[in-house]
Amino acid sequence: MKKPVRRVWKVLLGVLAVGVLFLAIALTAVPVPERTDFGPSISELRALATSAGEPLPTEFRRIAVGAGVMPALAVVAGRLFGTYPLVYQAHQVVYGDGRTVILDAGCDARTLEAHLPGSHLDAGSYSRLQEAMRRADAIALTHEHFDHSSGIAHSPYFDELAPRVMMTEEQLHGREAEMAGFTGDVVGRLKPLRYERMHLLRPGLVLIKAPGHTPGTQLLYVRLADGREFLLVGDIAWHQDNIWLPRMHPRLVNWLVREDGEAMAHQLRYLHELRKTTPELELVVAHDETQMAGLLQRGLVQDGLR
Ligand SMILES: [Zn+2]
Repeated sequence: MKKPVRRVWKVLLGVLAVGVLFLAIALTAVPVPERTDFGPSISELRALATSAGEPLPTEFRRIAVGAGVMPALAVVAGRLFGTYPLVYQAHQVVYGDGRTVILDAGCDARTLEAHLPGSHLDAGSYSRLQEAMRRADAIALTHEHFDHSSGIAHSPYFDELAPRVMMTEEQLHGREAEMAGFTGDVVGRLKPLRYERMHLLRPGLVLIKAPGHTPGTQLLYVRLADGREFLLVGDIAWHQDNIWLPRMHPRLVNWLVREDGEAMAHQLRYLHELRKTTPELELVVAHDETQMAGLLQRGLVQDGLR
């Protein structure tokens, strides 16, 4: 072979090797460590949840406001084919005296369809969520991404909701808050919630800082009067398999979403261990409709809002 031809082959092989190496890194997940120091123990959560000595909530409800699909490849690293159904849902904690707290605020149709083409909103459910937010004593979010928060920023009742919105400093100033409608003007009309590590928002409802998927991500622990327990994990996992395996979505998704994959890997280890040691604690993955269908079917969660 002539020298220039050999050089071309060498370059091509080099490019191919770099491409294969890139794909091997991009399509695999940040490994989940064997152990982690992340997160409070279940006894710490239970102690804080019941520390006010006031009645715990009596119901945990949910409403599905929209649906979409996601390629399996983007949800669990190594799953190359197929798709997962996605649900966009909000939750409601109900107290015996009729007070309620809304957890995650949904997304208006325009924002959802603009940023997640192929997803659609159920207008009736969305307006029921808006009405429930008007009646709520407090509204808190797992994180600031638009599919969980724009229902506040773009609410026709924003002025009414504003005093009861309990978004954290990180959520209000997160780099993607503006995409969800939290412009300077909107943020200026909300009072940020400030806390370190854990916060008792209401009896039986504890917030736990968990930055990683976004800077403002938090876990929401709910304990009901009858002993039922839930931990809303937001988008730390996109499917319960992320926790069970435990394996994250691929690094490419970390890069595109601008996530801290290392932090999320520790959180997945924490959730995996928590599930093993405390099987009665129901982990609620924000977009996993199959998991929620199981919780509804077992009567642990009620469908529709009060
Ligand atoms: Zn989400």
